[in-house]
Amino acid sequence: MRTFPATGISLTIKKYRGTQRLVVFYTRERGKVEAVAQGIGKPGSKLASLTEPLTLSRLFFAKGRELDRLTEGQVLDSFYSLRSDLARFAYASYLAELVAGATEPGLPMPEIFDALRSSLAMLNGGANPQVIVWGFALRLMRELGVGPVVEQCASCGNSLGGKVYYSPAAGGLICADCRPAAGFARSVSSTTAALLRSLVSFPLDRLPRLSCPPSSGSQIEDVVRKHIQYHLGFTPRSERFLREIQATALADKGDEPE
Ligand SMILES: [Zn+2]
Repeated sequence: MRTFPATGISLTIKKYRGTQRLVVFYTRERGKVEAVAQGIGKPGSKLASLTEPLTLSRLFFAKGRELDRLTEGQVLDSFYSLRSDLARFAYASYLAELVAGATEPGLPMPEIFDALRSSLAMLNGGANPQVIVWGFALRLMRELGVGPVVEQCASCGNSLGGKVYYSPAAGGLICADCRPAAGFARSVSSTTAALLRSLVSFPLDRLPRLSCPPSSGSQIEDVVRKHIQYHLGFTPRSERFLREIQATALADKGDEPE
């Protein structure tokens, strides 16, 4: 039986034939790994803690004909604080859903693993969850080669000055000249355009220091959401819950969402 080790983060888990579970991991060495874990439904299972969503572990798998099998492992970080905070857990689950939905098995992309690991660590440490989620989602899509282009006009390549728009079909920010041919486009402020550039260029651990006015926040939110829908072709299930959390947070601050 061929076995392989990997450092991975569990993303999703679902029931599979009796006490077995089908678990999706994102690993540094092998990218997405979908594996069966046996005996999870039984008390005292040694594998249960490794399969708990959003757990970082050193894992060992046995190669199967169809599906790999999780044989053993050791938890490296359970990101414990995330689990006691519903909102933070929702943000972290959103990241996990994005990675599970956007990546393919057998295509290692260590940059995505490293970004996910540090994003979870920052969420666990109490950093502003919104900028982390935006920064991660934008990096994930750019690693996957679907943009968004934010440095110059995604259509003509000219530098962006004056009025700026975001067009999902054009693949990012566009200039006023390119707007008529771009189909649907929404205007974004120059502050939003600058923040989008910071979100993709700053090191991840500096993102929590970005200050973002609420009007730009709702524009960035919209750009990220539309880009995911258009270019990754799905909407994470946790998105609706996140929007409810954000609306509540804004109402608490006495701020109206745009
Ligand atoms: Zn242009």
